[in-house]
Parts: sequence; C-alpha cells; structure tokens
Amino acid sequence: MKSVPVKVVAEHGPGSGKINLLGLDRQALEGFFAELGEKPFRVSQILKWVHARRVISFDGMTDLSKALRQKLSEVAEIRVPEAVMDQTSADGTRKWLLRLDGANAVETVLIPEKGRDTLCISSQVGCALECSFCSTGVQGFNRNLSTAEIIGQLWYVNKLLDEEEPGRQVTNVVFMGMGEPLLNFKQVVPASELMKDDHAYGLSKRRVTLSTSGVVPYLNRLTEVSDISLAVSLHAPNDALRDELVPINKKYPIAELLEACRRYIADKPHRRITWEYVMLDGVNDSDEHARELARLIRDIPSKVNLIPFNPFPEARYRRSGDQRIQQFSQILSRAGLVSTTRKTRGEDIDGACGQLVGKVADRTKRRFKREQRLQAVE
Ligand code: SAH
Ligand code: SF4
Repeated sequence: MKSVPVKVVAEHGPGSGKINLLGLDRQALEGFFAELGEKPFRVSQILKWVHARRVISFDGMTDLSKALRQKLSEVAEIRVPEAVMDQTSADGTRKWLLRLDGANAVETVLIPEKGRDTLCISSQVGCALECSFCSTGVQGFNRNLSTAEIIGQLWYVNKLLDEEEPGRQVTNVVFMGMGEPLLNFKQVVPASELMKDDHAYGLSKRRVTLSTSGVVPYLNRLTEVSDISLAVSLHAPNDALRDELVPINKKYPIAELLEACRRYIADKPHRRITWEYVMLDGVNDSDEHARELARLIRDIPSKVNLIPFNPFPEARYRRSGDQRIQQFSQILSRAGLVSTTRKTRGEDIDGACGQLVGKVADRTKRRFKREQRLQAVE
C-alpha cells in the first residue's frame, strides 16, 4: 500500500456567498443564465469549460465575452474539492480522502480494470440506515453532500488521471461509496444528470449506477425522472432476515421493493436490476437461501452480484468461504440467473465496499438525525 499526501488543486475557502457553478446541472444553469439575461447556448459552453476542460477561472473561458466573464466572477465561482490523502492499494485500487467543510471528509475510490476505470463515489457523510454489516452505517449519519461535492469527486479524479496519463478518464460511476443516495435525492439526481450530459462527462445511462438499500418512495420518484442503472442491496431472500441485515426493510419490505424495481425498468427496454448480495458466513449463504432468492426474483430481468463480506473492526460477521460462494452462485445459475462474484479490491486501504468510514465530526445527534431523515421520506 502506498499513501501520499497530495498537492492542493485549488484553494477552497469558506463559503464566499457566490454560487458554485460546479454543482449546477443543465436545467439549473438554464435558470441561472436566464436570470442573468443571457442566451441558453451559454449553458453548454459553461458545462464544457467546467467539467470537460476543467477550467475553473472565468478568465480562461475564452469564448465568453469579457463583460460576461466579469459578471460571472461577481456572482459565481467554481469551487472544486481538495484531496488530503491519496492511497494506492497493492491491487491498483486507489482511494482519495476529499476535504469538505471543517472536519468533514469523504472518500472516493477508483477501481481500475481492463478497459475501464470505475469510480465509486459517496453521496453522504456517513449513513443513517445502520445496516448491520456496513461500517458506514455503524459510524452514523452526519450530512448530505451537495451536488457540487458529489460531482466534484468525478471532476477531481478525472483531472488527476488526465494529468498522470493524458486522455485517461473515468468510464463508469457507481454510487456505492458512503451514504444512501436516495436519501439525498435532490443533490444526487442533478449530479447524475451532469455525469450523463454530453457537454459535461458524457457517460451513458448504462455507465452510471445508483445503488440503494431500497428507499421505496424515492425509488418511485427516481422512476419518474431518471434512466440511470439501478443496483439494489437485497442481501436476504425473506423479510425476517432482511429486517435484521437492512433495517429499512421494516419500513419498506421486500414485496414493495420488488414492485418498485419492476416499475423502474418497466418502460426501459433491455434494462435489468443488479441485486447486491453480501455473503455472510452462516447468515444468508445457505443453499436454501440461494433457492429462495432465485424464486423471489425470477420474473424480473436481473443480475446478481455476490459480494464477499469485507470485515471491519466492530463487525459481527465473517465472510463466507470461497466454496460456499461458488456453490451459492451455481444454484443461481442453474435457476437461470446471471450471477457474478465481486472481486474484493482495495482491502489494504479500507477501500472495499462497506469499509468506507470517512470522518464524522459530530455523532452526538446521530439518533435524532436518523429519525429526521426517515420521517422526511414519508
Ligand atoms: N447505501 C447504498 C450504497 C452504498 S453501499 C446501498 O446500501 O446500496 C454499497 C454496497 O456495499 C451495498 O450493496 C452495500 O450493501 C455493500 N456493503 C456494505 N457494507 C459491506 C461490507 N462490509 N462488505 C461487503 N459489502 C458491503
Ligand atoms: Fe447505508 Fe448502504 Fe451502508 Fe446500509 S449498506 S448502512 S444503506 S451505506
């Protein structure tokens, strides 16, 4: 493992009161430029400068008039994240700690594979949902990331990759870092729109994946506004066990979740749901669990992603053995389900699924905040 402090990309002082253009998607920029009395074509120009060319000073935006650049610098800024740590795992997985305000920091993880570079981004500092096998859940919830802080992770990593290896860019984004993205719906959706926007990052809808533990009301809202790929953290084939592992299941049980998933892909041809299933020794990994899982999802276009459990200090589970995982996967294949076993990456830098803990400054209000978040969903 290699760990290096990194140079600061741009100063990012305390809030200046100016609007941060990094966090505005096409729709928000249209409103912004309309208010300035500018023509709509400015939107694509700005998206290109900020996200594709990563120019963060208005002076460098040479196809904007001097007067407009001046106006922009008075009301707006482009504030990008700053990394305080850059770690590379023995297997090439790389993790950055990006500083937000004050004591908060968030982790973002790059998983290089043949032909693609997948970035695993965070949507919240911590998580309120307390899944029993997840270190992010164990540490509690602090706050939502802004759209700028979410897209800033991609901005930052693309900039670095391009500097290190000209032309190299992130090819896939997964919302599988810290946090439950659907509980930060308002900020996550515009960030995902920016990822897909041809003038910003131009990623196809198949290359942007939101992973959720199943916050059904927001999943229904996502169905109305988005076409990104969906991964669902199922982890158990029945409510009794899922209630224990993924407590939000008590509120939105499996039948409701599955119904929302069916609706999500209903008008999207050739789409399927990726089901994530963490393999916990002696808990959810028996032959019967595999058969039950196959029966549960057989009428939904699906792919199952088996994730060997990644341990962390307070964890009360063990990872299923390799043979058990193989046997589980074979039962799924015999039932006609496509299943893959996720290779565990970046363990030596705590960059694997469920090992991301970031830094949470204030845990005292954890319970209270959790209840607030859950109420907000209703
Ligand atoms: N909150 C979202 C996305 C972040 S978690 C969700 O739950 O889907 C990303 C994935 O990592 C989820 O499938 C989650 O269940 C899984 N995960 C969490 N902790 C893990 C652990 N300790 N080992 C393996 N996978 C884990
Ligand atoms: Fe939150 Fe996802 Fe971890 Fe559950 S698995 S606690 S929803 S981050």
